[in-house]
Amino acid sequence: MEKERKIAVLPGDGVGPEIVEEGVKVLKQAGEQFGYRFHLHFGWIGGCAIDRLKQPLPQETLRICMDADAILLGAVGGPRWDRNPPEHRPEKALLSLRKELELFANLRPAKRFPGLENSSSLRAEVLKGVDLLVVRELTGGIYFGAKFTEETPQGLQATDTLVYREDEVERILRRAFELARGRRNRVTSVDKANVLESSRLWRRVAERVAREYPDVELEHMLVDNCAMQMIRRPASFDVIVTENMFGDILSDEAAILTGSIGMLPSASLGGGNRGLYEPVHGSAPDIAGEGVANPAAVILSVAMMFRHSFDDEEAARAIEASVTQVLNSGARTMDVAAVGDLALSTDQFGDRVVEELKKHPREPRVPVEAMM
Ligand code: NAD
Repeated sequence: MEKERKIAVLPGDGVGPEIVEEGVKVLKQAGEQFGYRFHLHFGWIGGCAIDRLKQPLPQETLRICMDADAILLGAVGGPRWDRNPPEHRPEKALLSLRKELELFANLRPAKRFPGLENSSSLRAEVLKGVDLLVVRELTGGIYFGAKFTEETPQGLQATDTLVYREDEVERILRRAFELARGRRNRVTSVDKANVLESSRLWRRVAERVAREYPDVELEHMLVDNCAMQMIRRPASFDVIVTENMFGDILSDEAAILTGSIGMLPSASLGGGNRGLYEPVHGSAPDIAGEGVANPAAVILSVAMMFRHSFDDEEAARAIEASVTQVLNSGARTMDVAAVGDLALSTDQFGDRVVEELKKHPREPRVPVEAMM
């Protein structure tokens, strides 16, 4: 019997609609092969929603997201809206959506793809075997604490507040340990416990949670050291878990390990199965409309959707393997192409992934009677 799933599709701005189209192509193909019936509901978000409906996250968009099993997002923003006041900026939609859906865990895997060894600014031998996952706390910390600017006798003074509650720290650490169990059983918890009180709480909670996962190795690392080690010996990391701002910075640093920001997918998860899946990159206004954007990040985000929202590792791996096979064939988009490679347009790359995916038929399930 087909599995029914409702998916909210939010293409957004800039290259968003171009790449999401390729993500949807792959989603539909995988659905057909792996037994799903998808109901897709499209919505406006970001700058295009401001233009049409005067708000970055219209009520109707929020409603279809609340009602969905998973959300596929392109990107938001662009120079057109850069001068808008904070409440009317496209990026406001992302913060609101994460908060409304309580998506507290942001997962950003960074993996070395064969054939892209020379497209990073780091040496190929440093990058050999890189396969790490940054788990970033997404709804707390300094981005959400009280902020204000006030007059003082010495001039203006600005304050940002960094607050974490124990339960917020515990749930993200627990998620990281669970994820490590499906990988190489190592968690690096990153903080600034030599200076920050919130980091000392973070470390205490990490120690306590770790006792429930004796099969997972925990190490603590200060954020400044982690930033250095990620460049020095990136292959030694498995799961890196950290608070909101440190995660924001470290996950962008992880982007260079893959060669192009166009290769990096992400998932934002809450307590249940519903997740928001989107590329790490932005709306790339400099190449929007040219049909050259790399759709791999959004296609790999679709793979994460199968893994985390539909609990379907087989479909996720088939999509990831298809992307790898297309790259192995020497075909790639302009951002990662070298001399001699076949440069594909956005939709040609999507078509090639679909063709590869068709070669991965689902293993026929053994009927229950046959197993008895
Ligand atoms: P960006 O990620 O959009 O682009 C940075 C560089 O990477 C550009 O040269 C771009 O051409 C290239 N690039 C990005 N995605 C690519 C792809 N798929 N294929 C090939 N090349 C790609 O970052 P930016 O230029 O700093 O930001 C542009 C806009 O996007 C801004 O308005 C920013 O606020 C917004 N933004 C949105 C998100 C999001 O929606 N989650 C994230 C980051 C930035």
